[in-house]
Order: sequence, then structure tokens, then C-alpha cells
Amino acid sequence: MEKSTLNTALAWRSGKHSDLADMQHALLQNHVRQAMHSAFYNEKFTRLGLHPQDITSLHDLPALPLTSRQDLNNASHLFQAACDEDIVDLSLTSGTTGSPVQVPYTKNDLTRLALNEAIAFWGAGVRPKDRFLVCVTLDRCFIAGLAYYSGMVELGATAIRSGPGQPARQWQLIKQLRPAGLIGVPSFLLEMARWGQEHGYSPPDMGITSLITIGEPIRRADFALTALGEELTQAWNAPIYVSYGATELETGISECKQGCGGHIHPEMSLVEIIDDQGNLVADGEPGELVVTPLGVEGFPLVRFRTGDITRLYREPCACGWQTPRIGPIEGRLAQRLKVRGTTIYPDIIFQTLQKISAIEAAYIEVRAAYDLSDDIHVVVGTRQTLDAKEVESLLQAQLRVRLTVEIQALELVQKTMSGGHKPKKFFDLRDKKI
Ligand SMILES: [Zn+2]
Repeated sequence: MEKSTLNTALAWRSGKHSDLADMQHALLQNHVRQAMHSAFYNEKFTRLGLHPQDITSLHDLPALPLTSRQDLNNASHLFQAACDEDIVDLSLTSGTTGSPVQVPYTKNDLTRLALNEAIAFWGAGVRPKDRFLVCVTLDRCFIAGLAYYSGMVELGATAIRSGPGQPARQWQLIKQLRPAGLIGVPSFLLEMARWGQEHGYSPPDMGITSLITIGEPIRRADFALTALGEELTQAWNAPIYVSYGATELETGISECKQGCGGHIHPEMSLVEIIDDQGNLVADGEPGELVVTPLGVEGFPLVRFRTGDITRLYREPCACGWQTPRIGPIEGRLAQRLKVRGTTIYPDIIFQTLQKISAIEAAYIEVRAAYDLSDDIHVVVGTRQTLDAKEVESLLQAQLRVRLTVEIQALELVQKTMSGGHKPKKFFDLRDKKI
């Protein structure tokens, strides 16, 4: 990818483009044409009598069928749209919501991903002179670490491929190589800061000027930092910029320096927010994020339902970019809880629990209650003495929903949560008979 491509992409973002809809329409048509090289979409679109040339404008997008994660879990190999000779990387999804899905990338897909990330890094204030410690897995068939790395290279900045874990080793690299920023999962970046404090370092004085995070939510729907986010930004004395991505989408959506939502790259993806019936919701209203990545060759998905709840904002950003943004991820659709007409997601419960430092682990059990509400039971683990009623009162006051709290020994809670790829924090027992 020529450097001028990145410069052109950056310059383009600051302008208003009356021909944007036409450009996206052409890209969508090409994308659907490419998708029809896959067995899945060829069969599906042919059965529906749908031809790429029938897409006469962007308004036809909602008429295209949605693609669910279940479709991928059933037969992900049917989605490959390029021949094996053109595939250069096979990534796997983490498999938290089913078995891992294989996602084949062509060389052009990797180039596209690098440009996607380079634009995002620029928006977050990264410049070619900067060094960043990439504390994200680069191997094990994960794509995120590779995306960050190639984005840094594309931008001309310096990536330090540290990978996750081992705070002592991370500190060795920070001391020796003096990175300007860290990229990683929030709880691990906080663990690094704490390890440093305990071993005679002063994290706020290490010259870290930005933290780019992935995975765990650190912003509430109103963009304010969660307790974890506050603790993290204070620990390193550095602002946090959230990045969002899904392996299947081959697309990242990241915050600029304003920290008020992740910028969508309109030349690389089409974003919709839908309600339970599949209708578009109004801008600023919560709904499920649906993404159609544009220009993908190996695994071109059409209207992929991410299962993540967020909101769309179209007004120009204070950073100068005109591109639309999505807000913080508020939860997973499958984990939506309803209590007497109020909708909440487990994430907000965990974010509230972060305010109580004695709580070291927690999980939620949800059962169907007789009044069609969900019965939420929160189990927290601690090594200290805690009053369940006090935790219950805090949660009820902050969230304004009825729930129950149980205190257990930390080891017991950790045992219940263990056994999976990540600690299990949500036990959905709503299908079970009471
Ligand atoms: Zn911005």
C-alpha cells in the first residue's frame, strides 16, 4: 500500500462528500458480487432471485438478508469467496459464542485491514515517530494483534510485538524501549500498572501518552469512563481510546482523540443499527450493530449481525472528521435482561461492582420469573467481609432494578467461573424450568 493511499484516506475524512452514497452504492454492488462467489451467498441470493445489479441505491441495503453468527457456526467454509491459491492467512474467531469460525484472508484483505487500522491509529493521535507496545496476542490464529501490528507498520510508527501476559517482561520492555503508548485489554493494562507500582516503578511517569484498548468495556453509553476505565487512565496518567472489531468483519472501528465513539470508515464498511424486528432504529437509539464490510475478498459478509448493542451518531466529530461513529458497546443482545419493563445488560452490573474494591470476581445467574421479568442473582467473590444487602442496595440504587446479591468465598466463585476460554460471568438459566 502506497503511503499516499493513507494520506488520501486521511484528507478525505475531513471533507463533506455529496457523492458518498453513490460511492458506497458502487462498493456495495461489488461486495455483493464478490460475496456471490461463496457457496452460502450464491445459494441464498439465487434462491431469493437477487442479483447485484438489482441493488440500485444504498436504500436497497435493508432488503438484503441478514447473516447471523449461527449461519457461520453451521458451516463457515461455505462463506469463502476466494480460491485457496489466493488465501494467505487463516484466522479463527475466539469461539466465545460457539465453536471457532475460520476466516480466510487474501493478501488484499490484509492490506485493507492494515489501512483500516492505520487510519484509526492516526485518529487516536499516533504518529510515525511513536513506538507502541502491542500487548495483544499476535499468534494463536487471532487477528487483532496482527491488525494492530500491520496498522502500525502501515502508518510508519513502530510496533513492539510484546504480546499479552507477564507484567515483569512488559516492564523490562517499557524501561528499555520507552513506548509512547500501550495496546491491550483494559484489565491487563491495569494489572501491568499495579505490578509496576508494587515493584518500585511509577507508571504515570513512564511517558505513556495513550492507551488503546480492546475487549472489555471501559465507557458507559454516555461516553463517561467506567470505574475500570477511571482506574486505568489514572494509573498510567494517559487517555484511553477504545477499539472495536470482530474477526469475521475484517474491520475495526476505533475512537479518535475526542473519545466520543468509534469512527466508521465509510469506504470500508456499511453500518446499520436494528431493532428486534430488523428495522432500522433512529440515530442515537440503542439497537443491534449490523455491519457489511466493503471490499473484502476472502470472507465477504453481508449484513452481519454482531449481537452487540450500540448507537449510531452522524453529526461531525470535534476531531474534524465527518465520518459517522458508533457509541460504546452496551451489551450483548443474547444477554439482554428485562426487569419489569426496564432493559439492562450484565456489563452495567459488572461496571457498578467495579466501584467496590473488595469484590474480586463476580458472575450473574438469570432465571425467568413468573411475571415475565428476569430474576437476576449476582454472586460476588471476596477475601474480605462484605454485606450482601449493602452491595444489593448500591446496585439497586444505581441501576433501578430489583436483583439479589450473594457473597461467597473468592475461590468458590472463581471455580464456578472457570473451565472456558475466558472466565464465565453470565449464566443464562431462563430456559430452565423453575
Ligand atoms: Zn473524531
